[in-house]
Amino acid sequence: MPTSLARRRAIIVGAGQSGLAVAAALSAEGLRPQQDFVVIDAAAPGHRSWSSRWHSMVLLSDARHSALPTRRYPGDQRSHPRVDEMVDYLKVVEASIGVETAWGVRVTGAERRGDGSTLHLSTTAGEVQTRNIVCATGAAAHPRLPEWASALTVPGVAIHSSSYQYPRQIPTPDVLVIGGGNSGLQIARELAASHTVTMAVRTRRAHRPLASYPLAAGGRRPLFGGDLRPEPVFGDSYERLQQAGVRIAPAVAGVHIATAVTHARGGAVTFEDGTTASPGSVIFATGYLPGDDWLPDEARIRGTRRTTTPVPGLFVAGFPQYSRRGVDTIAGVSADATAIAHHIINRP
Ligand SMILES: Cc1cc2nc3c(=O)[nH]c(=O)nc-3n(C[C@H](O)[C@H](O)[C@H](O)COP(=O)(O)OP(=O)(O)OC[C@H]3O[C@@H](n4cnc5c(N)ncnc54)[C@H](O)[C@@H]3O)c2cc1C
Repeated sequence: MPTSLARRRAIIVGAGQSGLAVAAALSAEGLRPQQDFVVIDAAAPGHRSWSSRWHSMVLLSDARHSALPTRRYPGDQRSHPRVDEMVDYLKVVEASIGVETAWGVRVTGAERRGDGSTLHLSTTAGEVQTRNIVCATGAAAHPRLPEWASALTVPGVAIHSSSYQYPRQIPTPDVLVIGGGNSGLQIARELAASHTVTMAVRTRRAHRPLASYPLAAGGRRPLFGGDLRPEPVFGDSYERLQQAGVRIAPAVAGVHIATAVTHARGGAVTFEDGTTASPGSVIFATGYLPGDDWLPDEARIRGTRRTTTPVPGLFVAGFPQYSRRGVDTIAGVSADATAIAHHIINRP
């Protein structure tokens, strides 16, 4: 274990906006980066999850609502940042707090041993002890795929929206976008200019104007104990997509396994109305799974605890499941960060 991680009062896991928000809040409480707390991240130096989004992506939140309280987003506050601009912005935030992230260090587990006053963090660089750990590894960390996804074979590509980068990636003239949320809508919109696009939609989400994103996505309504409602779609709408030539289909129920002996796997999908289709390519815009998979089972009790877990000293930032709606947005995460900083400062 690099000595720079040892004997720190807190270790923040994740150098995205949530980790940096916690770093800023600890700093505001008088804790010194590198000396009192460290930030570690599995990614290559400077890589943020925004770096992996599709190239044309523009944030739904405007500049005013795409910033942490420590630093105003530069320029016109009504403009919507591009993803590469967000990456630059977070780099500036990191430098302004004085954080030197330890990149390339993946956390694999955390546990409490003995009397529980010390936590043990397992990482790819070794094990380290600390009194406080903050999990800031992202509410949208891993692709969520339907169970039948691996049984689908198509002539072109079948990828999750997290791997979609630009239209040239889709080698076939037609593509089926599975999922009618904001990612599905934006990707279908981009591909409609160059491909024949079908979008499979299970639940037609409520439509909201783009300007309402900060309130509707980053609102303050507590949703303790229950499932979060599906996020509305912002800006674009199913109707406008149809006008652009996108066919809206029912949800996909599964893979249609052909009976011909030459087809060992399914090249067609069955929609919920019983119809089938054989798409050239498929994009699964089916959402994400949270990055809390490295937490011990006893900590993964989600709900009303507002950033704390049943493991003393183990905190979670940026996950609505552990806190409240909106903390997974840039404008919303500081509520978690401030609460965690208070907890850490007040722990013996
Ligand atoms: C497609 C999409 C569009 C979005 N658009 C908006 C928007 O317009 N406005 C808005 O406010 N929000 C938006 N969000 C929500 C949110 O702002 C982003 O998901 C944001 O990236 C969350 O930041 P984070 O710091 O919580 O997590 P992340 O950005 O995912 O950062 C987590 C970090 O943890 C690291 N990590 C993960 N696992 C480990 C591990 N085991 N060990 C060490 N490090 C690890 C990762 O490398 C990563 O750097 C969007 C989300 C998605 C998916």
